[in-house]
Amino acid sequence: NAIIEITQLSKRYDTPEGAYTALHDVNLNIEEGSIFGIIGLSGAGKSTLVRCINGLEPISGGTINVLGQSIPDLSAKELRQLRKSISMVFQQYNLMPSRTVEGNVALALRHSGLSSAEKRDKTRKLLSLVGLEQHAQSHPSQLSGGQQQRVAIARALANNPRILLLDEATSALDPDTTKTILELVKRLNRELHLTIIVVTHQMDVVKSICTHVAVIDHGTIVEQGEAFDVFANP
Ligand code: ADP
Ligand code: ADP
Repeated sequence: NAIIEITQLSKRYDTPEGAYTALHDVNLNIEEGSIFGIIGLSGAGKSTLVRCINGLEPISGGTINVLGQSIPDLSAKELRQLRKSISMVFQQYNLMPSRTVEGNVALALRHSGLSSAEKRDKTRKLLSLVGLEQHAQSHPSQLSGGQQQRVAIARALANNPRILLLDEATSALDPDTTKTILELVKRLNRELHLTIIVVTHQMDVVKSICTHVAVIDHGTIVEQGEAFDVFANP
């Protein structure tokens, strides 16, 4: 059952030097419940692909369906709604330094329609899910990089997304911290039945947690399949 289905996607940018093809004939099927790695060097087209999936970039050809909805056909309002189902975590944590950990997570709930008490309760649950209940009253600057990324993950889960998209989310972290974040991601995949997309240039990240992999190079998918098969080929 595909949660994201992309066929023959192409994306051209208009530049002063003429059209530049950033994606060409991209076909991707991301199964619900999988941990899907998209790996490629800088400039391969990963960010462009992510922006197309989120409807932030008009596409030049092909189709993109997310949760059964055709992205190019959605109104701005429908897109905003859909984006609540695809939550993103980046390399930069983008936390508000003046707010506590709890305050940062609660900020994501401001349009949720929950009462103050419900928001407080939900925030506590999210912090305990990522193992930070002890740090609810700390400020981001008092936390390590790995802990700050956990706050960003808790915040990303606030609106009960179906898909969590990690865009170079561990690229700024040391190997040990990366490992603990990846363990957390694996647990979220299992416990919340969350589909995870891991966009990265780090092969070891993909190797350690992904069930499926697509390798992108110069705007095309050069290899795709179950991680076991993709990594079996030298
Ligand atoms: P990354 O490799 O993480 O995607 P980049 O530095 O390539 O980061 O791109 C950062 C931002 O600049 C992106 O939003 C991208 O779309 C934009 N960008 C990259 N290359 C160009 C370009 N040649 N012309 C205009 N914008 C660009
Ligand atoms: P990645 O995320 O894998 O580093 P990007 O999607 O950022 O790759 O970029 C893919 C290619 O498209 C790069 O050559 C980049 O310079 C180009 N590109 C990205 N955004 C733009 C843009 N807004 N205008 C023109 N070219 C762009």
